[in-house]
Amino acid sequence: MTGGHPPARGGRIELHAHTHFSDGTLSPAELVTLAAERGLTALAITDHDSVEGVPHAFAAADALRTVRTGEDATLPEVVAGIEISSTLEGNDLHVLGYFLDWRSEVLGARLERFREERRARARQILQRLASLGVPVEEEEVFAAAGPGVVGRPHIANALLRAGHVPTIDVAFQRYLGTRGSAFVPRPAFPSGEAVRVIREAGGAAVLAHPAAITTRLVEQLAEAGLAGIEVWHPQHGMATQRRWYEVARTLGLVPSGGSDFHGPHRGVGLGEMPVPERALADLRARAKAA
Ligand SMILES: [Zn+2]
Ligand SMILES: [Zn+2]
Repeated sequence: MTGGHPPARGGRIELHAHTHFSDGTLSPAELVTLAAERGLTALAITDHDSVEGVPHAFAAADALRTVRTGEDATLPEVVAGIEISSTLEGNDLHVLGYFLDWRSEVLGARLERFREERRARARQILQRLASLGVPVEEEEVFAAAGPGVVGRPHIANALLRAGHVPTIDVAFQRYLGTRGSAFVPRPAFPSGEAVRVIREAGGAAVLAHPAAITTRLVEQLAEAGLAGIEVWHPQHGMATQRRWYEVARTLGLVPSGGSDFHGPHRGVGLGEMPVPERALADLRARAKAA
């Protein structure tokens, strides 16, 4: 081990995984089963702006435990989590929460407000599209989002299906991107508030895949009560890993990470990022201390 190299080993825990309650392809039960097959010891359910998949994952883990009594099988500990889409000084930052009380009323009310703001924004975009002569059905867009948060990808798909654009990319270029003619900015969920809401729900907040943002923003969030930084993430090359590992050490934050799993055959496999198992224990301790 050379100096400054993040001492990552493992692939026994998965701290960043999405279910079909956001944009993942698997159900919580399928995700838990896959984690068990892979011999993972922990699986955090971190859907975008939703904790709806969490109780399903707990139930699935319980069912698996009952079935496997007496067998020498590893069963994953399910960790209640979330990934909140937030904004800080014009940067879109994702804030992960771990060990939070998914029944928390503070959390539930804030997420519901966010969902309603997102629905209002989607309706505004649809009005603009109609006035531009490229209407799409509101019901179709909202049905496609299902229990998840409605967003521009759902509208892009509807534009494609209606034959208004040849590709999703064109839908964003012409209409939905920041320079598109139907663009409406996303409602703001300030990153500092995301950190506070996660803490109020008894959780530990971790900045997801910070990539190339400035260290100053992370310092700001550390002051708001951030517990950790995602160091190991598929978007991070070695230099980025090293950078955030050092920042975590300097600021006294937990170096964490995960595969950002969205389904089989999409990116890195479940539990395949080399995240040290210690990250889980350290985040648990931070959640308790909050
Ligand atoms: Zn993310
Ligand atoms: Zn994610």
